[in-house]
This record gives sequence, structure tokens and C-alpha cells, in this order.
Amino acid sequence: MKERILILGAGYAGSVVANILAREFRNRIAREELKITILDKSDTSINQGGFTFIPFDLYTPEDITRSRKKLISPRVKAFYGKNGEVTSVDLQNKEVTVRSGKKYSYEHLVVAMGCRADVDAVPGLTDDLNTFYTSLEDAFKVRDIIRKINGGRVAISVASMPVPCPGAPIKFTFMLDSYLRNVKKNRDDVQLTLFWPMEPIGPPEFNKMVSEQFKEKNVEVIRNFQLSSIDATAKMLTSKNGEIANYDLLITIPPHKAPQPLIDSGLTDEKGWLSANETTLQYRGPAGNFDNVYVLGDLGPAQILKTGIGAHYQALAVSQNLINDVYGNGMKTHYEGETGCPIVTDMETQTTPGKGYIATWKYGVPPAPFKTTEIGWYLYRMYYHIHWDASVKGLF
Ligand SMILES: Cc1cc2nc3c(=O)[nH]c(=O)nc-3n(C[C@H](O)[C@H](O)[C@H](O)COP(=O)(O)OP(=O)(O)OC[C@H]3O[C@@H](n4cnc5c(N)ncnc54)[C@H](O)[C@@H]3O)c2cc1C
Repeated sequence: MKERILILGAGYAGSVVANILAREFRNRIAREELKITILDKSDTSINQGGFTFIPFDLYTPEDITRSRKKLISPRVKAFYGKNGEVTSVDLQNKEVTVRSGKKYSYEHLVVAMGCRADVDAVPGLTDDLNTFYTSLEDAFKVRDIIRKINGGRVAISVASMPVPCPGAPIKFTFMLDSYLRNVKKNRDDVQLTLFWPMEPIGPPEFNKMVSEQFKEKNVEVIRNFQLSSIDATAKMLTSKNGEIANYDLLITIPPHKAPQPLIDSGLTDEKGWLSANETTLQYRGPAGNFDNVYVLGDLGPAQILKTGIGAHYQALAVSQNLINDVYGNGMKTHYEGETGCPIVTDMETQTTPGKGYIATWKYGVPPAPFKTTEIGWYLYRMYYHIHWDASVKGLF
């Protein structure tokens, strides 16, 4: 019988695992001893990190989307649409069902279906929903809205944690500051306020750097403001602690949750996420402990930061452990919490330079003091092109 590896989700993490395994096991696949299958509801990949830049016209849809035919190795059996959209996962019986009713069995399972915005979680949010977090279309709507800012209080509200890339609202706020200051040249007429759901903004040195920059750029930061409801008519936000704040324009990062089919399959824990051992990433949740099931990326444990950088390192560790499992060599590698946040404090405009920095850290090793630089801005901008041909293909 063939050994079967099944990957759920062909986003960032799932694609890296599929491509690394396809290279390693090319001979076994050719001899039909091993089969790798990947499932996704869509045949197009989107680099969501680009959504933050779309409102400022820094990338185009072509830059941040690719057909999965060009990304996933042809050695991998890929199913998209009705034959790829997972509707239930039965870990006991090692069986996954998709929208068409077709079932897939496996010996090894990788669950990498990301997470999604839960816009109904905050009463009133859908009455005044402007967000760059959910889709290209929504990011373009934010572009059209910010072009019309002429004054008043612009509120950027991160409703609650965890969200994918908690650094994205921070760099969006800094880029909006640069845009109003250096492009529209009406920054003095705008009160820019970030509503943040926690006290610190990232690890201590990260918090220190961004707090100083917010102060310097006259951006108001209201911390510990977990969004409870929105009154779109009165243009008012209420926090879980009962504080009230007014706004003229609201841009929201909605709460996020694990994919519904995984919740319905009873795989999520009391916090709503898939729990796993923090270093082996093997499933340890309410459905039992499964060493043959790996959890990675945005749907993973609440305490693991949800970033593309983290998903990449997790995918490297899981790929190596699947290689170890298939060879039966008894070796184990570990995810050591490698993650990071590419921060931008200044957006490049025709007259002013951009400044950025890719801060990285891991379990027990917080980032060292840093400053954003012009070269950091260019490296981060370049990354979006490297993403497709190097990162997603698992070449580093
Ligand atoms: C606005 C924004 C900005 C960001 N900026 C950065 C950044 O600058 N740096 C950084 O490191 N990270 C950033 N991130 C985070 C990064 O995009 C994610 O952490 C990363 O994509 C996670 O990878 P993943 O594989 O877990 O999920 P995804 O890449 O989201 O892939 C999940 C896949 O699962 C599929 N799927 C979902 N449900 C089903 C189903 N039922 N059946 C089949 N398939 C399904 C989806 O179609 C998708 O292809 C950003 C995210 C956002 C939203």
C-alpha cells in the first residue's frame, strides 16, 4: 500500500510543506510508493501580507496573487474547489471529507487551513466595516476611502487578539501617517488614533520602538481597548471595559477564528484554536493526541504568534519531521518559536524615504533594540517578489 500524506490548505504553510516533501520523496512518488495530496477551496494563492500595501498602491493584484498550478510541485496531487474544500475532519478514522462528498484517507495529516475574520463577533461591525484584512476587494475599498480623508478623527481599531500579523495594523497606521503627511499634505487636520486591545505592542524592544515613533508622529494610541460594539449611526466605539470613543472614519481589524469545518469537527480548544505541542506541532487537542497530525500556521495554538514568518519556520520543521517519520529514522526536529514582524515606520513617497526593519525573535529570545532603516524598507518591499519563487517553493 502507498504511504499517504494529506495536506489541508494550500496557503503559505501548506504549500511550503508540499513542495519540500515533493522534492525529498521524488523517487518514492515516481515508484508509486508514496502519495502527497493537497486540498484547498481555491486554485489561486494570495499573499495576504500585500493587503497592507494595496491601499497605498504599492503592489498590484498581479504582484500578490498566483495560480497554484505555478506554485505547487506537479508531483503533488492537488484538488481545488468542491473536491478540495474541506467540510469535516475525522482524526480517529483518519478521514477527511470535502464539499463534493469525496473522502480522503491518510497516514500523515498536515492541517494548515489558516484562519478567517469573524465580522459578526462585534455587534454593529458590519454596519461600518472598512478593513484591509479580508480580501483584495476590501483593501481596494480602503484605498478609495483614505483618498477622501480631509480631516476629523481616523480610528484604526484592532478589535481583539489573536489576529494574523499583529504588526500589520501598526505599519498600516505609520503608512497612513506618511500618506497624509507627505502625499495628501493634510496630516495636521487629522487626528490619527490606534485602538489597541492589549497593553504592549509586541515584545519589549518592539513596543519601545513603535511607541517612540507613534509619539514623534503624533499618533494617539489607546491601549487595552478591546472592541465590544460599534454604533455606526452615532459613530461610536465601545470597549469591553465600557469606555466610549467617537470617530469620523473607522478602519477595523476584525476578530479572527479558526475555519468553521474544524470547529464543527470538534478539533478546536476552549480558546477556539487547534492546540498542538509548541515545538513538535503535533496535535494535542480535545479530539485526542495524534502524533501523525501536524498543526501549523494561523489556525495553531492561541499563544503562537500568527505570522507568515512563523508559518514558514513551522513548515520547515514539520516537513523535516514528516521526512523523519516516513524514513522511520527516529529523529526529531523542533520548531523553536522563530517568528517576526517586518515593521514600517515611514512609507516612501516621491519626496521622502521609506523606513523599515524585519524584527525577528523566538521562544525565550526577544528582539534586540533596533531602528527602522531605508535598506530595511527596500528589503521588505523586495520580499513580496521573492515570496513566490523562493519562500513558497520551500527553497530556504
Ligand atoms: C493584512 C495582513 C497582513 C499580513 N502581513 C504579514 C507580514 O507582513 N509578515 C508576515 O510574516 N505575515 C503577515 N501576515 C500573516 C500571514 O499572511 C499569515 O500568517 C500566513 O498566510 C499564514 O499561513 P497559513 O498557511 O497558516 O494560512 P493561509 O496562508 O491563510 O492559507 C490557508 C489556506 O487554507 C485554505 N482553506 C481555508 N479553509 C479551507 C477549507 N475549508 N478547505 C480547504 N482549504 C481551506 C485557504 O483557501 C488558504 O489557501 C499578514 C496577514 C494579513 C491578513
